[in-house]
Amino acid sequence: MACCDVKGLMPLDEALKHMQSAVGNVCGSLMISLSDALGYGLAVDILSPMNVPSFNNSAMDGYALKQADLLNCDSNNPVTLQMIGKSFAGLSYTGDLPTGCCIRIMTGAILPNGADTVVMQERAQINGQAISFTEQPQKSDNVRFAGENIKTGQLVLKKGHKLTARDLPLIASLGIIEILVYRQLKVAVISSGNELKSLGETLSEGEIYDSNRYCIMALLSRLNVEVIDFGIIKDERRLILDAINSADQQADVVITSGGVSVGEADFIKEVLTNLGEIIFWKLAIKPGKPFAFGKLPNSVFFGLPGNPVSALVTLYQLAVPAMIKMSGVNKPDTLRLNAKSADLLKKNPGRTDFQRGNYYVDLQGQLIVESIGAQGSGIFSSMSRSNCFIVLEQNRGNIEKGEMVVIEPYSYLIN
Ligand code: AMP
Ligand code: MG
Repeated sequence: MACCDVKGLMPLDEALKHMQSAVGNVCGSLMISLSDALGYGLAVDILSPMNVPSFNNSAMDGYALKQADLLNCDSNNPVTLQMIGKSFAGLSYTGDLPTGCCIRIMTGAILPNGADTVVMQERAQINGQAISFTEQPQKSDNVRFAGENIKTGQLVLKKGHKLTARDLPLIASLGIIEILVYRQLKVAVISSGNELKSLGETLSEGEIYDSNRYCIMALLSRLNVEVIDFGIIKDERRLILDAINSADQQADVVITSGGVSVGEADFIKEVLTNLGEIIFWKLAIKPGKPFAFGKLPNSVFFGLPGNPVSALVTLYQLAVPAMIKMSGVNKPDTLRLNAKSADLLKKNPGRTDFQRGNYYVDLQGQLIVESIGAQGSGIFSSMSRSNCFIVLEQNRGNIEKGEMVVIEPYSYLIN
């Protein structure tokens, strides 16, 4: 046991490793139209079927010419060339360019045969068909060469890459209409608790609205998975058993929130043990200690704690990396930065803390993080008032004001 391990609680790193080795890609592939492909993971490498651009063309509106015609040209020795034609994007000049002549050319138009350079129109004096120049250009100025962006056969995007808005135009530029991607992971979401009511219902004494489902489903929609909403299930053994059984038959992943503590009405763990296998259910993290990870006959199970902050932290830090792997998608790097703490942060050694904070860069260029104050796992407003997790390592105690800490800015999943 390492210095600050707490008996019965699995350290975060170990839990993450267990989860990564316990799950694999479960998603088969399908062809979809490029216009529907945002957020999907590529099931194949994309190799370019063509050169991009596919022809030499102009990067400017100006004049296509032979650079040799403007050798030693300057304001004392201007050179005048005869404009003999025009080349537009999509409507090119078809002839050759003879010495002593130039072609009026627009951005994206094919560079005429015999031309090697484009001079932008602002650098030319126009007198009818006589175009004068007072500067010697570099050879190839303002020319975009065939294949300079992408060459035929080049690996453009790798299998497992999750498609972003930046990738779709790249694929479109290759003329590819349909691509092979991994299908969406199917994720069943269950809220458990006798005290929970759905929005639109009236609360009786002691009841609360089921808010966790909104957080879980919102994050899952950003993850591009198919959500199967099981609503609220009462704390009754039979109902929980039926719901988890049915979820297991329909989904690749079953996510519950609530009912994994050790209270008397917390049946999830018991049901899970009967139906499948619990791999671990107590973690050395704060918030989120009662997080359960297990396997059901057909699916993987994540039992999130009921407290809203704990549910979000465990979903984000633990379940998401496992679901990404199950989707066949390469895990994006997590952005972690070193920041100076503007506050005293209370912490007991023994668990990794995910406190909530706000980071900014001060006038000296130093990255600073301020705590949002109360860190209770039920205070969900702390999530809306913060922009990062302050990740405090398991073995650390209180953090003094001015000490360096690691922060993790919230990613697109929850921003
Ligand atoms: P549990 O994990 O069931 O012991 O619940 C811990 C705390 O989280 C209790 O205060 C619950 O009322 C609350 N809680 C459980 N599920 C939800 C939910 N879906 N939305 C909001 N709060 C919840
Ligand atoms: Mg409960």
